[in-house]
Amino acid sequence: MNKFAKRLTDDLISLRRARPAILQLNVAKLCNLTCVHCHVNAGPKRKEIMSRETIDRILDWLANSNIPTVDLTGGAPEMIPDFRYLIERVKTLQPSRHIIDRCNLTILLERGYEDLAAFLARHRVEIIASMPCYSSENVNAQRGEGVFEGSIAALQLLNSLSYGIDPELPLHLVYNPGGEFLPPSQAELEADYKRELRKHFGIIFNKLYTLANLPIGRFASYLRHNNKLDEYMELLVTTFNPATIDGLMCRNTISVGWRGEVYDCDFNQQLGMQWSSNGASKPLFLWDIDPDLLEGREIMTGAHCFGCTAGAGSTCGGAIM
Ligand code: SF4
Ligand code: SF4
Repeated sequence: MNKFAKRLTDDLISLRRARPAILQLNVAKLCNLTCVHCHVNAGPKRKEIMSRETIDRILDWLANSNIPTVDLTGGAPEMIPDFRYLIERVKTLQPSRHIIDRCNLTILLERGYEDLAAFLARHRVEIIASMPCYSSENVNAQRGEGVFEGSIAALQLLNSLSYGIDPELPLHLVYNPGGEFLPPSQAELEADYKRELRKHFGIIFNKLYTLANLPIGRFASYLRHNNKLDEYMELLVTTFNPATIDGLMCRNTISVGWRGEVYDCDFNQQLGMQWSSNGASKPLFLWDIDPDLLEGREIMTGAHCFGCTAGAGSTCGGAIM
C-alpha cells in the first residue's frame, strides 16, 4: 500500500469516483514551450499526438454519454493537426458540450496560429491559461525568455475578442508556485493579479486558479537535482487536509491519453497508471468503459497525491477550499 493510501486508511477516508462530469483529453505531449515545472515533460521535440482515428473513436463514445464538459490539455493541445476538427465535431454533438482549452497563451501568437483565438471565440471555447505571475521576471524564469511579454500580448488579443468580458467567453488564469512551496491564498492572489494586470496592461480576466506543483515529471527532476525532493514531500505530507478529498478532480474527471487510454487524472497519466480490467491484465481505453458504471470505482493513488490534498487542495479548477 502506498503512503497516501495508507494515510486514507488510517484516517478512515474512502476515495472513490462520483458520476463523471468532465472528459479531459490530453491530446499531445508536443508543446512550443519547455517550462521548468512541466509535469508532462512536454516540448517541441515530443512526437506524441492524438490521431484523427482516435479522435473519432472518442467522439463516438462521447456521443453516447451525457458528460457535459470536454477539457483539452497537453502539451499545447492547439498544436495537433486535428484540433479544430475536434472542437467542431464536439460542438455538433446533441446535446452540445462545453469545451475548455488549457492554453499556454504564447501559442496564440505563433506563426500559423494567427486566427486561432478568433476560432476559439467563435466556438465559445472557455480558455484556462497558464500565467504563473504578473511580473516578467518570475514568468520568464519558469517558462522561458520572452514568455511573459508573449502572454501579455495574447491576453490583450483575447480581451479584444471579448474573452474575460462576455460571460459566454470565460478567461481564467492559472498560477503555480515558482518553486518548492504551496500556493498562497487564491482569493488574495486573484485580487493582486486583477489589480496589477489591469493597471499595467489593461487586461481583464475572470478567475485565478492556484495549483500546487506535483512532485512528478520535470518538477520532480528539478527537486531531485536541487536535493529538495524529500523536503517538498515532507511539506505535502504534513499539510495533508482531509477536507479536500471530496473536491479532488479524480472523483469526477476521466483523463484520456493521446492513444485513448484511460486514467484517474492527468498526473496518474504521466506516471503510466492506466486503468486495467479487473484481472489487471488488460489495459483499458475509453471505448472499453461504460460511463454509467464508473460511480464508486476505486481511484488509483500514489505518494504524488499528497500534492492535491496539501493545504487548500489543488485541482484543474484551482484551490478546493
Ligand atoms: S507546462 Fe504547459 S506550456 Fe509549459 S511545457 Fe508543459 S505543457 Fe507546455
Ligand atoms: S494525483 Fe490528485 S487527482 Fe490524481 S489520483 Fe491523486 S489525488 Fe486524485
